[in-house]
Amino acid sequence: MKAIYPGSFDPVTCGHLDIIERATSVFDQVIVAVAVNLEKQPLFSVEERMELLRQACGHLENVSVDCFEGLTVDYARQKGAKVLIRSLRAVSDFEYELQMALMNKRLNPEVETLFMMTSAEYSFLSSSLVKELAHLGTSINGLVPKCVEEKLLAKLGRRAQEAEKR
Ligand code: ADP
Repeated sequence: MKAIYPGSFDPVTCGHLDIIERATSVFDQVIVAVAVNLEKQPLFSVEERMELLRQACGHLENVSVDCFEGLTVDYARQKGAKVLIRSLRAVSDFEYELQMALMNKRLNPEVETLFMMTSAEYSFLSSSLVKELAHLGTSINGLVPKCVEEKLLAKLGRRAQEAEKR
């Protein structure tokens, strides 16, 4: 069975990767799909986020990386997938995820959202926290895949240089 793991992945963290790895042992094919959200101001472009996901998932044969605009359920229909994977960390994730899952169910009752629990060691981890740490010059080693660590430091370094010039 095919499943889609949609999200912002700005950038992919070890928490996301853990979910992707565990999902590959449940589903035959996992499509990690970067959602193009015009309302959010991402640090990484869609192309950059996809490239980082491709590198981070390189060891997983049944994972492909894609992006989509518009409704997730429409994208799922287009891909012939009936399952959306989302994951839960703390109780604080629950309300938003429930709302999304119920709305998606209303939009397309044939698509199921399946939730996976975070692994305990990543339960505190989010893309925004990682960006904040990197911005403050704190080590993010072990929180994100190596390729993300390098790209994040390069990007923030460049931003700092640009700010200095202004
Ligand atoms: P979105 O903006 O769609 O919430 P994210 O990239 O932040 O996208 O997250 C995608 C999915 O991954 C969400 O279901 C989120 O709860 C989950 N997730 C985020 N961080 C972690 C983590 N550390 N462990 C497990 N799941 C996570």
